[in-house]
Amino acid sequence: RVRLLANINLLSDLKVAKRLKAEGVGLYRSELPFIVRNDFPSEEEQYRIYRTLLEEMAGKEVVFRTLDIGGDKMLSYFPSVNEANPFLGLRALRFSLRHKDIFVQQLRALLRAGAGSRMRIMFPLVSSVDDFVQARDVVAECRHVLRTEGVAHCSEPELGVMMELPSAVEIAEELAQEADFLCIGTNDLVQYILAEDRTNEQVAELYVPYHPAVLRSLKRIAAAAERNGTDLSICGDMASDSRMIPFLLGIGIRTLSMDSARIPKVQKRISELDIAETKKTAETLLKMSRNSDVASFLQKG
Ligand code: PEP
Ligand code: MG
Repeated sequence: RVRLLANINLLSDLKVAKRLKAEGVGLYRSELPFIVRNDFPSEEEQYRIYRTLLEEMAGKEVVFRTLDIGGDKMLSYFPSVNEANPFLGLRALRFSLRHKDIFVQQLRALLRAGAGSRMRIMFPLVSSVDDFVQARDVVAECRHVLRTEGVAHCSEPELGVMMELPSAVEIAEELAQEADFLCIGTNDLVQYILAEDRTNEQVAELYVPYHPAVLRSLKRIAAAAERNGTDLSICGDMASDSRMIPFLLGIGIRTLSMDSARIPKVQKRISELDIAETKKTAETLLKMSRNSDVASFLQKG
């Protein structure tokens, strides 16, 4: 059984997700409402957005990703430091941990929105167990304050790690033990494994998602998740790449999250596959050392 979930950027994306029968939201990019505004959305404004999302998807899984700004996603109204390498700079969880007031406001809005429902919150660009534990501690603090204030909130959110960095792959075992779930963000993972800026056209041909190093990293994450009984999903573009789907299923991934429009094509692709065959495909691919060999194997479909 393979589950297909939707990546949601704005609430307006929900319509297509529902029409195409997404089984839930595997990635809600919470930074979008921050990016399209002229100022920080208040806790109340955020609460309303998150609450609407949960209500629209009632009974289904919803994974909220905390703010992922920095890199190529800047806020026009927030003074940014001039960074020579913004993708290696103060982005995603690093930004949230540095600007704790903004992080706390978002977590309060999320936890309040989740009152009475099951909810998942994940952190982008986790690079160490310490990062995750620090973020989890801030969630615990927020829960404590909401409890003392007598404000209704989700008291047991499931907390997850986005696997987007080579450092996270190295410690996948420990992250799988600490976190409630893992979600692989291949868009960033590929860029950081290959040291290839995903927004730089000059090196676009070096962005090779099927590079053996990427395939082996994915396998390591899947194996760590399986050994620890930790839920695993994938939410980068690779999740809907029909060439890559046999490999992803072959290493044991069973939850794919993607732009909703891609769901029908992926459904069709999966229905043509035999699980035992995908395991063999994955084993074959994992033995390859050259990009070109992987490319020609994938070409044959
Ligand atoms: C990813 O990195 O794969 C991902 C899903 O996050 P984003 O594309 O928003 O960085
Ligand atoms: Mg990412």
